[in-house]
Amino acid sequence: MTKDALYRFMLENADTRGEWVHLDNSWQEVLKRADYPEIVRDVLGEAFAAVALLSATIKHQGSLILQIRSNGPVHLLVVQASPEGHLRGLARWSREPTETGLNNIFGTGHIAITMEATTDNERYQGIIALEGEKLSNALEEYFKRSEQLPTRLWLTSDADSCAGMLLQRLPAQQHNEEDWTRVNMLLDTLTPEELLNTEPAELIYRLYHEESPRLFDPVMLRFHCSCNLGKIENTIKSLGQEEADSIIAEQGAIEVNCEFCNSQYRLDSVDVARLFAGIELSPASPALH
Ligand SMILES: [Zn+2]
Repeated sequence: MTKDALYRFMLENADTRGEWVHLDNSWQEVLKRADYPEIVRDVLGEAFAAVALLSATIKHQGSLILQIRSNGPVHLLVVQASPEGHLRGLARWSREPTETGLNNIFGTGHIAITMEATTDNERYQGIIALEGEKLSNALEEYFKRSEQLPTRLWLTSDADSCAGMLLQRLPAQQHNEEDWTRVNMLLDTLTPEELLNTEPAELIYRLYHEESPRLFDPVMLRFHCSCNLGKIENTIKSLGQEEADSIIAEQGAIEVNCEFCNSQYRLDSVDVARLFAGIELSPASPALH
């Protein structure tokens, strides 16, 4: 089975573009770092696949962040994709959800989709309501508003992998409505097992052989966390010296744990004094974590 890859495809006869994604080792890296209840794990996996698909639809180079903040059993979910194909994600829950459905899992809240361009510091954020049975329903609403192109998402996840498909109608002078209806009906026949266990070329041919499908070269994706000592130091600097010194006085050191990758950073009184004196570590200095 093709792992940790995203394929783009075209359905020439139906003016439709598509994407297929399968996340495996990258997904295992996320699961290693927290013991997620099954319902939380599945919705996080769907978000993980969705962010990979969404980031491949961005026209400019940048990172994409999906964040859910809410008041239900799961109160926070964050997944991020970088332009290099690096993914990371987490969910936080205060009690175990007993039923699926977005409102049963998250209560009320919203989904924020943020795109940050790497080149010009530009930021675009879209907010959508946390509504619908599945995450894909809510995200289709996002596409309707932001891209104004009819878009379908199909997401699935289990303990081994997560996977997804995206279909989007191409902008065109004239559309044949029947084409879009037909490719959607074919997508509706897809089962989670098929999506998780079929090679992309075989699956797309099986569903869309009459639409002259064209499959492009894959993009490989992997788990990678962008946290580093420099970012932690900047956060501590933004606290101010007084606050930093008082934490040191109380706890002996400032300890920061990255929630995405579980890396531990520890700065003692010497490190903090150096930080506020403005002395940078030389590249040869050993890492502190
Ligand atoms: Zn990290």
